[in-house]
Amino acid sequence: MQKGEQLYAGKAKSVYRTDDADKLILHFRNDTSAFDGAKVRQLDRKGMVNNKFNAFIMQKLAAAGVPTHFEELLSDDESLVKHLRMIPVECVVRNISAGSICRRLGVEEGLELSPPIFEFFLKNDPLHDPMINDYHIASFGWATPAQVEKMKQLTFAVNDVLKNLFAAGNLLLVDYKLEFGDFHGELLLGDEFTPDGCRLWDKDTREKLDKDRFRQDLGDVVESYELVGKRLGLTFD
Ligand code: C5P
Repeated sequence: MQKGEQLYAGKAKSVYRTDDADKLILHFRNDTSAFDGAKVRQLDRKGMVNNKFNAFIMQKLAAAGVPTHFEELLSDDESLVKHLRMIPVECVVRNISAGSICRRLGVEEGLELSPPIFEFFLKNDPLHDPMINDYHIASFGWATPAQVEKMKQLTFAVNDVLKNLFAAGNLLLVDYKLEFGDFHGELLLGDEFTPDGCRLWDKDTREKLDKDRFRQDLGDVVESYELVGKRLGLTFD
């Protein structure tokens, strides 16, 4: 597999073409960003930890029947994935209130949300990822109605798989964000699943073990990601 030109550089990952038009290489960098890119830091080992964490989760999801873009780990901080045409929306499921829903609706953090809440956001940093609904997606043609239904179905399927997976590590899956794309007519889970894009709390102490440690300057960011991984049975280095 030949690594080709850089196609795109996101806030924490860079994407490269390969000699196969259907495959891309994701490079997980050490960069960590929050607040739509307003706060950026370099954190040692983060690229490696997130690359291995993502591979582990994507493989668990695929085994449970959730189709993903993940192909294989290529190195400590690179993975081979299928080349998707990304849908520019973020799918969020919340099991416990935290983050933006508390600010938007004035609810306290830590409420159990039953049933879990599903939200769509438009991927647009300058606009601060505004919340949208099915009608915006249909009217502006960001995805077809069939893709919208499939995104909801797969995002909830991920909840079933990962709530149990994290529970086995004595962790609460508070919320998470997923992105999807089209691969020759099939909708696949793309992007990543790492502690950068979800909230995970220790079940007993409710200690935050995700990117809120970075957002809120709590320290031990990568150490917490590694702790989560180790509780799931993952080994790093
Ligand atoms: O900020 P908010 O509370 O809406 O985020 C919900 C979940 O989605 C959190 O786990 C957060 O880390 C994730 N998220 C993300 N990327 C975004 C927005 C939210 O990974 N652009």
